[in-house]
Amino acid sequence: MKNIILIAAPAAGKGTLSEMLVEKYGYVHISTGDLLRDASKEDTPLGKKISDMLQSGALVTNEIVFDLLEKRLMKDDTKNGYILDGFPRTLEQAEMYDDTVKRLNLDLGVVIVLESDYETLRMRIVGRMLCEECGSVYNVLTGVNTPKVEGLCDKCGGKLYKRSDDNEESFKTRYDTYLDKTKPLIDFYKEKGIIHFVNSDSKEGMLKATEEILND
Ligand code: AMP
Repeated sequence: MKNIILIAAPAAGKGTLSEMLVEKYGYVHISTGDLLRDASKEDTPLGKKISDMLQSGALVTNEIVFDLLEKRLMKDDTKNGYILDGFPRTLEQAEMYDDTVKRLNLDLGVVIVLESDYETLRMRIVGRMLCEECGSVYNVLTGVNTPKVEGLCDKCGGKLYKRSDDNEESFKTRYDTYLDKTKPLIDFYKEKGIIHFVNSDSKEGMLKATEEILND
């Protein structure tokens, strides 16, 4: 299976598309945000440093990100195809990743850009709630995936919580960072001829368009 690099603004559907591809095709989903959130829970000076960086919405340093990512890529389960979600975030990371791919003998694969408008993304972030127990995602603003009972998960009854960086201010920072730092990646991958654009407004449409790219 082709490896996939997902490029998208915050809440543009990276997690949702990844989940569908993992379930249907057995892809391994590698989210640098998840790797960092896990690392931030460690009770060490590094864990505390990562936690502070995440809370501010700013990008974490390349040194930390590449260390966590390369360790994850070296595990055997990535051989049958993996999805990179939230990485690379900058042109510098994309250039550094070209070296990683060569060094670890990996395949660059295809790049998929998920597209959606600013207001849709803002509401998805500000209204997002997650289940403490099973990780299911809900939204209390968009009218899509509203929990049936306020504060509780429909699937397992677990308590819902808000990610600490899912607030208005952090969204603005993350969106501006996306425009500023991530969009130049599009030109970088266009030159390599491996980039594709997918509208992320509907789940089904997003999966179908992605499958067409993977089967091409
Ligand atoms: P995400 O879960 O992808 O929305 O990422 C959450 C936060 O993790 C971001 O706001 C950044 O602070 C950090 N982060 C995730 N991926 C990267 C990356 N590739 N480079 C630097 N920071 C990252």
